[in-house]
Amino acid sequence: MDTNLVPFTAEDYLDGIHALSVLPENETRRRFKPRASGLNDCARQQSYYMHNIPRTNKAEEDKGRRDHKVTAELGRMAEDLSVKAVTGITSPLISPEADGIAIRNRQVSLPDTACVTGHPDGEVHQFKRGETNEPTQYAEELFDDKRWGFEHKLFGRYSYLKLFKLGLFKGAPNIVSQVVLYGYYLGWDAVTIVALSQDASSMRGERTTSLRLHEKGKTVETRNRHAWATRDDLNPKVLVYNLPTLSSFYDGFIPSLTARAEALTTVEDPDAVVREADPGDSRPFPCNYCDWKDRCIAAGPGSVIIPVSPLQED
Ligand code: SF4
Repeated sequence: MDTNLVPFTAEDYLDGIHALSVLPENETRRRFKPRASGLNDCARQQSYYMHNIPRTNKAEEDKGRRDHKVTAELGRMAEDLSVKAVTGITSPLISPEADGIAIRNRQVSLPDTACVTGHPDGEVHQFKRGETNEPTQYAEELFDDKRWGFEHKLFGRYSYLKLFKLGLFKGAPNIVSQVVLYGYYLGWDAVTIVALSQDASSMRGERTTSLRLHEKGKTVETRNRHAWATRDDLNPKVLVYNLPTLSSFYDGFIPSLTARAEALTTVEDPDAVVREADPGDSRPFPCNYCDWKDRCIAAGPGSVIIPVSPLQED
């Protein structure tokens, strides 16, 4: 027997995931509108993506970015799980005739007139169970006549912790602009956002370490940096944000988000777009994770300014 033969390797596994997850609509191609989920990212980086410019950095290392495919697939599976988990939940807001809530209209399309692309995860509706115990009848309006959107995220340790430490608007501005845009185009009055952690145990470990550093901190700065670990509202597995007044953000955010999206849509030369980050910066995000960093440095600072979003990080 040839002892070099094995059933499969990690490389084979990643190839399998890649083959599984390349849906026709996700194949690499020129995109004419920015993604709602990334609108606050560096404008030049978005332009490289939209113009399908070959990646000059992490592509080699990731061998076609197969690791990202694994994460995307896990995100889809986690969303299915969450939808099942919330089906049947009751609350004081549910009508006495209903049997619980359910997520409907999953992955609806935005209208062609939308300035961004995206696949909203669904809407929260009331339902009645049928003979098979499955939801069969839905009420279109619910919760004080509000149309209520639903967005789901599966976060890694860094993003989850950032969300918890800084809150939704500072910690996850891309989610905020995403739900504002989805809500505006789909007529949502409100939205529920579920943020699931990929790894609760690492979150607990991080908290234990930070708590120790906080308690032993010899400077105010150290104590402040680790103060988050003393909060008793950390749920290491899931954070749920309910925004019952989502529509009140439309007037304030939609004009600037639309201006940014439309400017990105008209970019002809991504190398000419003014950078919104510094590729010489030693901090990891965003440039050290950017797939076009080498090209960006070679292209220079650029001259085409894209209007900023009020949700962009400093
Ligand atoms: S390297 Fe930095 S500045 Fe350049 S495109 Fe990427 S994120 Fe933007």
